[in-house]
Amino acid sequence: MKRLVLLLAALLLAGMACLAGIVFLLRSERVRRPELPPRQASVPARIPTEAAAPSLSVATVDFLDVGQGDAILIRSPEGKTVLVDAGPSKGIIKLLRERDITGIDLAIITHHHIDHYGGMDDVIREFHPKTILLTDSPHTTRAYLALLELIEAEGSVVVFATGKSRKIEAGSVLLTVLPMPPVDSSEENNNSVGLRVEHGASSMLLIGDSQEAERNFWAGTCPTLARNCDVLKLAHHGSRNGTDGFWLELVNPKLAVISCGAGNSYGHPSPQVLDLLETKGIPFKRTDLDGTVRVVSEGSGWRFIPSKEILP
Ligand SMILES: [Zn+2]
Repeated sequence: MKRLVLLLAALLLAGMACLAGIVFLLRSERVRRPELPPRQASVPARIPTEAAAPSLSVATVDFLDVGQGDAILIRSPEGKTVLVDAGPSKGIIKLLRERDITGIDLAIITHHHIDHYGGMDDVIREFHPKTILLTDSPHTTRAYLALLELIEAEGSVVVFATGKSRKIEAGSVLLTVLPMPPVDSSEENNNSVGLRVEHGASSMLLIGDSQEAERNFWAGTCPTLARNCDVLKLAHHGSRNGTDGFWLELVNPKLAVISCGAGNSYGHPSPQVLDLLETKGIPFKRTDLDGTVRVVSEGSGWRFIPSKEILP
């Protein structure tokens, strides 16, 4: 009997060791930035749990109404917070405060355009993201370099999206960072971070401002990460170059979200894209018309929460 117990304990330990091996640990890597010296950064794959974190019954994703830009707040049922982009300006701070956000576990800048990182400096000063995920695209501006200086000074752990996909657990929400294609030096939109966000059987795809070249790269190299996602944030604010029939066929979303500013000068979203959604019978929400768009998951699919019911 004693021998049996020992055998079972050994099997259990072996199983746990095996499981630990399966968990994808983010390896130390070099920070790559144009004008700052590199340093080592070690990042846990699992965002540590804080005892004080508030517990929600559902996973919540808010496509925040930040005008012409993107800012997407993901909250896990365990109280983990992930912010994907920070909109063009400081309006993001008020929106986060209204939601009782006091800290950010992971901040992601999908690409180096100001409508995605413009509010990130204030987010860093106010909410001190523990980890920041960036790309190493060479496209830069004075404002972006200043942001990198701030990140350096803040001491957040920095990781870069690479040519390999990586998984990050935020409580029970699983983020898969899609592999980055080779850098497109002529079109920064094609250097966008892509994310598959899963909570149980609920799936969502966030793809920055990616255009056809980057989407085709994903369709060719990792179609299973793009295929059959319940919710699709249309790329590039509903622009014509952010969505096409092929992509909608692959992703096959049940719901779509467009993040764009009311009366924006770019004409986003494109009438052709809206026609495509209607032809395919895909319901959608727009931040310019609906304000902040919220979807929630209890683990078996995302559902829209009507605007009037959205509470922080
Ligand atoms: Zn944009």
